[in-house]
Amino acid sequence: MQGKVYKSTGSWYVLKTAEGETWNARLKGVFKLDGITSTNPIAVGDDVDFEPESEEDSTAIITAIHDRKNYINRQSPSHRNQHHIVASNLDQSLMVVTLKDPRTSQGFIDRFLVTSEAYHVPAVLLFNKSDLFRAKEEDRFEDWKAMYSSIGYRVIRMSVHTGEGLNEVKTLLQGKISLLSGHSGVGKSSFLNALYPDWQLKTQNVSGWSGKGIHTTTFAEMFDLPTGGRIIDTPGMREFGLVDITKEELSGYFPEMRVLAGQCQFNDCLHLEEPGCSVKLGVQEGSIAPHRYTSYCAILGSLGGENY
Ligand code: GDP
Ligand code: ZN
Repeated sequence: MQGKVYKSTGSWYVLKTAEGETWNARLKGVFKLDGITSTNPIAVGDDVDFEPESEEDSTAIITAIHDRKNYINRQSPSHRNQHHIVASNLDQSLMVVTLKDPRTSQGFIDRFLVTSEAYHVPAVLLFNKSDLFRAKEEDRFEDWKAMYSSIGYRVIRMSVHTGEGLNEVKTLLQGKISLLSGHSGVGKSSFLNALYPDWQLKTQNVSGWSGKGIHTTTFAEMFDLPTGGRIIDTPGMREFGLVDITKEELSGYFPEMRVLAGQCQFNDCLHLEEPGCSVKLGVQEGSIAPHRYTSYCAILGSLGGENY
């Protein structure tokens, strides 16, 4: 039989079949996955094969894991070269941001975008609280929308309070597996409650979308949305960090730099002070936004490696 992993506790996994049956499954024996040193072989979002163990208790044994389309991981705090796979097979990553109350910084947005690129997960920016926009925020929103749209990111203006943009987001969630992230206080739980008013969000008891609840676990969990589609909640990881990125790779995760980086005079160019740098030329000529270049430099400076 086949199922999808909805929840993982580390030793037990909650699986759901396409028909909606739920099974509690575990692994037997040692699982080896090609190329991944992971502390947990199975992650939320994985598609697996399983064999029922007990029909009465709905317990099962996982026998195989299907290839992952993508996955996000987190470095183990104690072992630098060990990773914890948080979730897999994501269709998109949505980040709720606000220009006011609280203000999300551009650096934070760019880190999120870099991480999404590195994980091969399409990213969407949801600018919430548009009802609070005054002239200053209107201007900033227009600037950022133009900048991010030109790079290829989808930007949606929304307000949980007025309902602006909510239908667009609802359509976006349908039939997809989405990861929702964003600072605390930007409106993630308000937004889900507004989209699905009759749906008592199960997570609120567990972690709370705002991160204000009791965190009994840091494992991810997936939820079916009433109108189809699924959301993955990752307690404690809504501001996911950068893992596994080298300085040399970084510009490859800025799509507008990626297209120019190959034309630099030096092929190990970090686009700082090197001569013949096409990325810096792009900044001068306007094809790369100065703010994005600033974010690039800031992220570069935060990455480890020998190239300091
Ligand atoms: P979370 O931490 O991301 O889950 O954020 P919450 O959903 O708890 O919302 C934080 C605060 O922002 C609450 O007081 C909400 O009422 C408020 N809020 C959410 N959406 C909007 C909005 O569109 N406009 C305004 N003005 N406030 C909002
Ligand atoms: Zn360069």
